[in-house]
Amino acid sequence: MSEQKHALVTGGSRGIGREIVKVLLSEGYAVWSLSRSKSEEHENLHHVGCDMADRSSVEAALETVIKEAGTLDVLVNNAGITRDGLIMRMKDEAWDEVLAVNLTSVFLTCRRISRLMANQRKGSIINISSVVGIMGNGGQTNYAASKAGIIGFSKSLARELSARNVRVNVIAPGFIDTAMTEVLSETIRLQIATQIPLGRIGKAEEVANAVAFLASEKASYITGQVLAVDGGMAM
Ligand code: NAP
Repeated sequence: MSEQKHALVTGGSRGIGREIVKVLLSEGYAVWSLSRSKSEEHENLHHVGCDMADRSSVEAALETVIKEAGTLDVLVNNAGITRDGLIMRMKDEAWDEVLAVNLTSVFLTCRRISRLMANQRKGSIINISSVVGIMGNGGQTNYAASKAGIIGFSKSLARELSARNVRVNVIAPGFIDTAMTEVLSETIRLQIATQIPLGRIGKAEEVANAVAFLASEKASYITGQVLAVDGGMAM
């Protein structure tokens, strides 16, 4: 029997994160998921309650995971939020909260887990950005800054960790059908679809499949890359 692989996913309770957890479980990983609400039960799924906006909560959750898992093959930073608004009316809290959940949490998890992976001489880190981090989007300066930040951060980390055989890649999803996008009206959704070469909004599972690929040995020569999973939107 092959050795049990371990993965840590942030924001595994809903949306894209839940599909990432599902795909990794189906590939035989034991998965640790950090979120505020619990995910569904599975014998190989371990939920650790965590508020990614709170530094001490993240640090405590990471220590729990490391104690329970011992080793980690894969880290997926997926937790993310939006607090949209035009810049002239954007409140400090909308900026601070988005940067804390979407970017500072990625710094905190990567800082701790890269130490573990560097010692193991093995690991794959996948950070979830967005096409908005590449193209920008009016009303989302805070979100775009956090998602563009993830790209620069990840490329730098890929360079730092390459000598230790730890790969770092980014996935930039386009419009994906989850709670984050269900607030949009049908008219807006149809309008968005016309700007997507493949002509439709994507499914969370389609992002999860790309994560599973980058996590696997099939991607053993890929690091520092940004893979858009967006139906061709940002090409
Ligand atoms: P979602 O359905 O709203 O789910 C967000 C996930 O993040 C949940 O599991 C949530 O868990 C977790 N989360 C949010 N705030 C948290 C906090 N303070 N502490 C801990 N966990 C927190 O969003 P989604 O659409 O799946 O998005 C997932 C990722 O993909 C995000 O990084 C997002 O920016 C990115 N993305 C999404 C789209 C899209 O079209 N949907 C496009 C591009 C990029 P709890 O609420 O249980 O804590």
